[in-house]
Amino acid sequence: MLKKTYETTLIGQADLVRKNRYGDGVWIRGLLEFTNRCRQNCLYCGLRRDNSRVRRYSLDEEEIFASVNQGYRAGIRTFVLQGGEDPAWPALRLCRTVEDIKRRAPEAAVTLSCGIMEREDYRALASAGTDRYLLRFETCDGELHRLLRDGVSLSERLKALIDLREAGIELGSGFMVGLPGETEEISRGNLTLCRDLDLDMVGIGPFIANPETPLAHCPSGSMEETVRLTAMLRLMLPDTNIPATTAAGSLSPGGREAMLAAGANVLMPNITPPRYRDHYRLYPGKTRLELDHLPELDSISEALIKAGRRMDMGKGNSISWKRRVESTRSRPLHRRPPDGSI
Ligand code: SAH
Ligand code: SF4
Repeated sequence: MLKKTYETTLIGQADLVRKNRYGDGVWIRGLLEFTNRCRQNCLYCGLRRDNSRVRRYSLDEEEIFASVNQGYRAGIRTFVLQGGEDPAWPALRLCRTVEDIKRRAPEAAVTLSCGIMEREDYRALASAGTDRYLLRFETCDGELHRLLRDGVSLSERLKALIDLREAGIELGSGFMVGLPGETEEISRGNLTLCRDLDLDMVGIGPFIANPETPLAHCPSGSMEETVRLTAMLRLMLPDTNIPATTAAGSLSPGGREAMLAAGANVLMPNITPPRYRDHYRLYPGKTRLELDHLPELDSISEALIKAGRRMDMGKGNSISWKRRVESTRSRPLHRRPPDGSI
């Protein structure tokens, strides 16, 4: 009973903070899953290189531009290009693609989420016009991280996050909730690490056991815990953007709505061409928040209005990022981020 009251208060407080900082608008991002090839072998993920049951695909540039065009015409002003660490997509090719997107959709922001790269690569991506990058640290526990990411260390991930920040890119990270081996202490540590990294975007979602991975028989993370942690993140990082993630919607039917009611302020409808969608299987039962036609945008809008919110098609930089840009402007030139854009 006491726990329930505490949780209701926590969620209510987080919702108030979200309303106070961001109002009732929910930023809409178009999510384009452009390649499911990956050189990594994370134990939790269906795209891991050892999973031979996935039909691999990679969009070419024309398919990417066509998807972006369609979304841009529908009013979307942020495109998130997410994929595995695909050797066919080195930084140079990504740079050219980002430049081209920005030429064709000049008012749009581009977010990339393509895993770990070299420092110079992130700088080049920033110079090419990449606005944002999402790279979850997944778990703050070094030992668990190495185990679940098949030998890749947490420090590599953290170094990449520092490199991204130094490159002057709006920075997103986060973690999975309820990974096998997670303890309460690790869960608390995940929150603290988000705060210490002073993130501009925090993406969290429940771990969902994928039958095509070595973690097939592990229990999935809990929706209640995901909602509770969303609320805590909103209170700890009031100025960050927090998406209501696909994994939450996939684990439980009202999952995304529950995150929106607990402090989240971003939705990412899928704009991947329909023929590829079933093959981007990070986890099973992925919900469909798809955007092939304008009426789907209308139904998202209607659902948000019913929940007392409204769709916001703006570019949607986080408040923390705007502040960061302001403080960079007031600093001497030689200390500005190297992307030259601010
Ligand atoms: N390759 C990039 C981006 C694609 S994976 C990267 O790893 O950063 C995007 C996110 O999917 C990962 O960060 C991870 O948190 C999430 N994910 C992967 N497998 C999952 C699973 N089984 N359950 C829930 N989320 C998962
Ligand atoms: Fe590759 Fe990302 Fe999946 Fe790891 S989580 S296997 S890096 S797509």
